[in-house]
Order: sequence, then C-alpha cells, then structure tokens
Amino acid sequence: MPTHTTRPHMRETVDETRRRRMPSVLIIGAGISGICMAFKLKEAGIDNFTIIEKEQRIGGTWRDNTYPGLACDIPAALYQYSFELNPHWSHFRAPGAEIAAYLEDVVDRHGLRPHLRFGEEVTAARFADGGWRVTTANSSTFEVDFLISATGFLHHPSVPNIPGLGSFSGPLFHSAQWKPGVRIHDRRVALIGTGSSGVQLVAALAGAPRRLLVFQRTPQWIFPMPNWKTGGIGRALRRVPAFREAEFRLLRWLYHTIISRATVEPGWRRNLIGWLCRRNLRTVTDPELRSKLTPDYEPMCKRIVLANSFYRAVQEPTVDVITEPIDHIAPDGVVTADGVLHQVDVIITATGFRAHDYVRPTELVGAHGRTLTAAWQDGPRAYRTVALPDFPNFFIMVGPHSPVGHTSVTEIAETQADFALQWIHAWQRGAFTAAAPTRTATDEFYRRLHEQMPQTVWATGCRSWYLDSNGTPNVWPWRPEAHIAALSSPDEGDFELK
Ligand code: NAP
Repeated sequence: MPTHTTRPHMRETVDETRRRRMPSVLIIGAGISGICMAFKLKEAGIDNFTIIEKEQRIGGTWRDNTYPGLACDIPAALYQYSFELNPHWSHFRAPGAEIAAYLEDVVDRHGLRPHLRFGEEVTAARFADGGWRVTTANSSTFEVDFLISATGFLHHPSVPNIPGLGSFSGPLFHSAQWKPGVRIHDRRVALIGTGSSGVQLVAALAGAPRRLLVFQRTPQWIFPMPNWKTGGIGRALRRVPAFREAEFRLLRWLYHTIISRATVEPGWRRNLIGWLCRRNLRTVTDPELRSKLTPDYEPMCKRIVLANSFYRAVQEPTVDVITEPIDHIAPDGVVTADGVLHQVDVIITATGFRAHDYVRPTELVGAHGRTLTAAWQDGPRAYRTVALPDFPNFFIMVGPHSPVGHTSVTEIAETQADFALQWIHAWQRGAFTAAAPTRTATDEFYRRLHEQMPQTVWATGCRSWYLDSNGTPNVWPWRPEAHIAALSSPDEGDFELK
C-alpha cells in the first residue's frame, strides 16, 4: 500500500500539459457505463484504451434482455448520455431494442468500435509495479496503468432456489435469457416473479397464452407511468438541439427534485407517489384480486415498478395471480404449498439478478496481495461509489452504493467517468504512479452513509435487491446532486499516492 500522502496537484500548468504522459486503460464491459467511460477517454484525447467484452456485442443488459414488452421504465429522454441526445426515440419510454440500437450508434459515431475486443472474459487482475496485469479466459493478457470495471449490476441472472427446478419437462428459462423460438401462444405458461421484468412480461404476454399463471411472492407497488408514441411533432421538435437539451434538463430536474428526493427524505413527495400508487391499485375492480395485489410495505421501499398496463393485463380472464407459495417444480408444472399442481407447458423465471456481484467472479488482487474477496467479506464497499482502498488506479462504474434509486444510470456513469478521468489526468501530469482512497476516508464515507440510511424509504421494511446481505440498502442515501458534488473534484486528502 502507498506509504505517504501527497497532493495530487489537480490544477495544470502549460508546461505540465506539454509533458503529459499517455496512460493505457482497460475497461471491462461494453454496456452503458463502459461505453460512457470510453467516450470520455476519447474526448479527452486518450486513445490508448481497450474495452473488453465477454460477449460478441455491446449493450450489456440491453443486449441480454430481449423479452416481449421490454422497455425503458423511465423516460428515454432521460435514459441517454448528455453528450448524445437522441432525437429519434419512438416512445416516451423507448423499447429495449431501440436503446440497444442507440448504444451501437454511440459506439460508431464516436469511433469507439476499434477499441472493442469481443469474446474476452476477464478471469484475474493483479496490481503490481504501478499497473494492472489482467488475464482473460482465452489467456490474453493486458498490462495497463488503469483498470476500470464497468461490469454492471443487472447482469448475472438470479436462478431461484426452488426444489425440482431441473425436473421440469418443458422449456424453462430466465427473463434475461429469452428464447424466441419457444411457442407461448395458446399454451399454459407460468411466470415466476413480479418485479419490473415480470410486470412488463405480464403486460406484453396477457392474452397470448391459453393460461398465464403469475406466481407472485410479494406484491409490488405500481406507479402509473404513461407511455406514448412520440409522434412526428415530438421528433421534429427534438431535431432542434435546444429543444432536446431543454427536455433532457427538465426531466432530470423533475427526477432529482421529486422522485429521487422522495426516496431519501420523508415528506410530501413520498406521500404523493404513494397516493398515486394506491389510486392506481384501485383500478383493479375485483376486491379479491386487489387484495392479492396490495403490498404491506411503503411504496418505493422495493424499487418501484413503473408501468401503465399491468393492472389491465392481470384482469384478463386468461390470467391468474397465484399467491400461494411455490413448494417445488414437478415435471409437468408448479406445485404450491397447498399441494395443488398447476400444470403448465412453459415456465419463465423473472426472478431478477445477483445485483451485488459487480466485477465478480473475477478475483482482483490489489496492493500487498489484498484480494477483492477479502476486501468485500462484509459486503461490497467503495469510496464514494467509485474506488477501493488497496486497489490503486482502479475505478468501478455503477458500483456499490451508486445512486440507482430512480436516477438514470447514464447520469451516474457520466459522473463516475468524469471523476476517474480527473485522476487519470493527474497521473498524466506525473502527480502519482499509483493512487487509491485511504481506508480512513472510506470508513468515514460509510459512517455517514449508515447514519443517513434510516431516512431513506429503502429502510422502511421490505425485502428487495437493494439490500445487501446485512440488510443495509446498497443505494446512495442522499439526493443525486450530492453524488455529483461528491465526485465533482477529487478530495485530495482522501487518497494515498505513490
Ligand atoms: P426483481 O425486481 O429482483 O424481481 C424479482 C421477482 O422475482 C420478485 O417478484 C421476487 O419476489 C421474485 N422471486 C425471486 N426469487 C423468487 C423465488 N425463489 N420464488 C418466487 N419468486 C421469486 O427483478 P427484475 O424484475 O428483473 O428487476 C430488477 C431490476 O432491473 C429492476 O428493479 C430495475 O432496476 C431493472 N429493470 C429495469 C427495466 C427497465 O425498464 N428499465 C426493466 C426490467 C428491469 P420478492 O419480491 O418476494 O423478492
């Protein structure tokens, strides 16, 4: 570990600019955050970088998820990079395929494609002699000055631990591993899970299968989020850059001021969103079904589901919501705890992701042989969401406690990429060879974070993928503006430099 602290000397003189060194950078993952980091490097004139991607295409979660009904559940105009505002969104909340195409387009427009290496899965990365040595499953090795993990958090499908899952005789697959060749139409289909993915699937599938059995373990609050076609006028207006920019800023302001703020402080915003959800639930006319769909926890405690046609879909005569717990899977269907066998032809598990795996299973070995497994034995932690003590010249995008609570992931990624870039610039000026946050600064960040957490809606009592194994929400407990402020410029005393 670095032994002394100096100032990274963030401001640059003309002479220093002339003396700049060119760093080598490796980005792991070509999803939203990896592409963002690559763009920022390129824009800064740093060309010596590679993005390695284990699959054969870019896009991350928007490449993997192709299920029917997949769409952005926040406005597409917000779910885009500020440096590449797209005038062509077909819907207020764009379909998944459009977002995947948008990301491809960004890669081409900004000349990032030559930097991509597909089919390379990182197996190990070790810090030594001021840089990272990274090995892949194909035995490729990369030696770089900086390592950026952009592996995302909605990446590893969570396979439910239900006995007998392997015994089912028909097709059984996860929502993120959609099988377009499997016939759904006119068959009996079981859908397990009613999170954001399950809800979108129910709305898209209802009416197609002969019976759609929705196995709900916990009801969800559903925020009535509209979706409309943008239409010719909308698209024409967006061709005017000033209008595009205004729409983006307005939506960002609305999200920051109302929705994100509602998650981190009690008050009228939280009450308003709760009221809208309760009002939405009243559109379910059958009292028995409504009662099944009524959560017993506060709206937004779980990541709220934003949808406009789920309640309509579950009221279709061919759809059943089953709340009896699943006991096991049999070869011909799902058996619930009351002993009933629900015979089905297809089972879809919309059971979410192992969201806290981040860069793992890759083992990182930082300074002094410190492993990521040891560093994260009590759960994933990162200094202000982006960097880890003992792991110099390493930045993690959309990592632990990134403010995923209803902020656009593009905004988070841009903030974090800008922060990493400031350190890379300091390295270019010769301010250090290796830099990592101190344990003291990281512990202090966590002390403040834990102090703040009880204010948040995620701590009001529910089970959700936001919670880590200790039951602490793995989310940013302040307003999104605080995340931007925390990473706006490196806090020089918080890092140890060599
Ligand atoms: P999720 O929110 O984690 O939901 C998983 C669902 O599966 C829950 O209903 C859960 O029940 C259920 N489940 C898990 N294990 C189960 C088991 N063993 N038996 C029965 N039920 C089980 O996952 P997701 O729906 O894939 O969404 C994850 C996140 O992805 C979202 O929160 C959102 O951030 C993102 N997403 C975004 C979009 C978009 O449009 N932008 C679309 C889809 C997803 P419990 O509630 O009881 O745990």
